[in-house]
Amino acid sequence: MTDRPVAGNQPAISEVDPESLTAWLAARGEPAYRAAQVLAGAHRPTATSLDDLTDLPRPLRGAVADAFRFSSIVGSHALVADGGLTAKAVHELADGQRIESVLMRYPARGKGIGRTTICISSQAGCAVGCPFCATGQAGFGRQLTAGEIVDQVLHWHRDPWLALGADWRPGGVRSHYNIVFMGMGEPLNNVDRVFHAVRLLNDPARLGIGARHITVSTSGVVPGIDRMIDELPQVNLAISLHAASDELRDELVPINRKWPIAEVVAAGQRFAARTRRRVSLEYVLIDGMNDAPAQAAGLAALASGWLCHVNLIPLNPTPGSRWSGTDAVGVRRFAATIEQAGVPVTVRDTRGREIEAACGQLHAQLAGRPIGTAVPMVPA
Ligand code: SF4
Repeated sequence: MTDRPVAGNQPAISEVDPESLTAWLAARGEPAYRAAQVLAGAHRPTATSLDDLTDLPRPLRGAVADAFRFSSIVGSHALVADGGLTAKAVHELADGQRIESVLMRYPARGKGIGRTTICISSQAGCAVGCPFCATGQAGFGRQLTAGEIVDQVLHWHRDPWLALGADWRPGGVRSHYNIVFMGMGEPLNNVDRVFHAVRLLNDPARLGIGARHITVSTSGVVPGIDRMIDELPQVNLAISLHAASDELRDELVPINRKWPIAEVVAAGQRFAARTRRRVSLEYVLIDGMNDAPAQAAGLAALASGWLCHVNLIPLNPTPGSRWSGTDAVGVRRFAATIEQAGVPVTVRDTRGREIEAACGQLHAQLAGRPIGTAVPMVPA
């Protein structure tokens, strides 16, 4: 699977603002309404290149294709797992940096409809350095642009697989999807570009994804949470807690040394109080590390009495790592402690083990190899 490579430094069409596009068109004697045609055509799921903007006169189409890039992603390598329910891609950017995105489908239950979640990266690498995370261990590359963030969504939006519809039958109604910033990077360490990307995703002239279908997940960047309250109050907030004591969290989520648990939870409470939106407290369960009864009780206390829920995630281990996930019995015991405190708790299913779907793993596996040739497809 490849996103069409384009040489040069042209801006990606996904991040061109309407004013610049209108001015660019006006300089060529084109009316303002052409801007809407360009954006609508480029965000159409069937578009494979800017040559597909067939609403435009042919000469203008050629000029658009010369001036802008169809995608800031120059190549992608995708693998499918879980019987077709999970797909992961490593994307190569114009400067050779590589990032990951994951698409997860959740089948319909009863008479409901299925849903799809796209997990995207906000940075190439990550400086937070969580020791259980392959991305954290690989270090920081650079900030992603808003276009590079949006183009991960567009990659899946243009994938015929997503077009199977909510019931995933060919010809069905195209599935709506949720976006989560839970891939590589700490989104609130790239806050301006991430917020810009959210607005681009929201834009009805582009993908028109509702803010309530977007979740920003942070390891606890308190000033960024406060900016979300003011600037993006309808976007969901998830906080990756992963420990209930500062001593342990200093080790597992090193940013805790800057913003300790009490400050992070207080910021989450401010978000919930001001936006009336439920905050998700994410907790990766690592065998023998943070799954003791005392941590469960501590987490229950932190989550009690305010608008939040706890999402437990058994660790998807990195090959060769000393860390492993808590077993099913341990997960149930931990969840029961939270539940008994009256706090809503869910356990996230672990997806894509056979395609290294945990953050940063496939990227590490492909390091130094050309995109598209290194790893065989896993049959769905
Ligand atoms: S878990 Fe998230 S915040 Fe921590 S190192 Fe990995 S990508 Fe960064």
